[in-house]
Amino acid sequence: MYSLYIHVPYCLRKCTYCDFNSGPHTRVFMDRYLQALAEELEARVIHPRVSGFQTVYIGGGTPTALNEAQLEKLFNLVNVAIGPDEPKEYTIEANPGTLSAEKVRLIKVGGANRVSLGVQTLSEKGLKILGRIHSPTEAKEGFYMLREAGFSNINIDLIFGWPGQTIEEWEQDMRAVLKLAPEHVSTYCLTVERGTPLSRDIRMGRLARPDENLQYKMFKHALSFLTMAGYKHYEISNFALKGKECLHNINYWRNGSYIGLGAGAFSYVNSRRFSNVKDAQRYIVRTGSGRRATSFTETLPARKRIAETLVMALRMRRGIAEKEFYKLTGYSLTELYGPAIKKLTHLGLLSLSRGRLHLTQKGLFLANQVLVEFV
Ligand code: SF4
Repeated sequence: MYSLYIHVPYCLRKCTYCDFNSGPHTRVFMDRYLQALAEELEARVIHPRVSGFQTVYIGGGTPTALNEAQLEKLFNLVNVAIGPDEPKEYTIEANPGTLSAEKVRLIKVGGANRVSLGVQTLSEKGLKILGRIHSPTEAKEGFYMLREAGFSNINIDLIFGWPGQTIEEWEQDMRAVLKLAPEHVSTYCLTVERGTPLSRDIRMGRLARPDENLQYKMFKHALSFLTMAGYKHYEISNFALKGKECLHNINYWRNGSYIGLGAGAFSYVNSRRFSNVKDAQRYIVRTGSGRRATSFTETLPARKRIAETLVMALRMRRGIAEKEFYKLTGYSLTELYGPAIKKLTHLGLLSLSRGRLHLTQKGLFLANQVLVEFV
């Protein structure tokens, strides 16, 4: 299965916690960026005739911060590149503070069949701390606009564990989201990234440092709360109604192939991983002068590819069966990773039962620390 990712590194304003490759740009700059994307699509998808994408994901940044003409152009570019085959899943990320009825219409006409809405919290106080540009009301209105336009597959992104958030406030967020009844909910534990305004505010004592124990309680609460409401917890941060799991991300977790276009986008094809220059200006200059935007390439050695297959699979709640691992890699899971599995099982972070290896609840919460043991 092949996936296509398009990166739009544009946001109206930077959120306080964000260290993603995104930021405010002028209209003219974004016109030039779209032109650069067109050139990259031509060089990497149209001209070599790559087709049959199962999933397309337009992410960012905030793709919906583009103006209407730009949004329309973006869809036209992507649709020409992918050709007549309709991807099973075609997602665009949206920020409620940037949606209008006309943009929602353009997204629908453009062919997207899934929208990931960055709500993060419905608490006025939380939105202010996170530096989001939208209000709780706009978040709900954005959701209803999408529903009225006929979207039947909507994800809501939530963040928990922001400074000062109580477990009751976290539950209020989840309750409010359940009232909207999205098909998919992603719940991310806030990490305080160095160099962000949020980390400065915490360091200066202006905001409380998130408490990891409380964040773990919130994680467990989300697991029981959302699964009780009928959502299946299928990956560390992801919950879905039956059949509404995100196919695009599942392809990543199965270590599948994908082509990423745009500034800083990663690709993974035939055991080769490469990424584009991160800086949007440099990306425009490179593609504009007919050069590849690639800044980094590596061919994964077999051992690394095997480790990544395991690490990505363990992000999924189902983990990986020993038989499946052997089929994918040609190696025995326990022969390759016996000592690490033993150690992590002993610590209560991993479980190997009936031939299937998976992270425990605690292991899922601490996944980033746990999975490095296999790399
Ligand atoms: S909207 Fe998303 S990408 Fe943009 S600044 Fe906020 S967190 Fe970062």
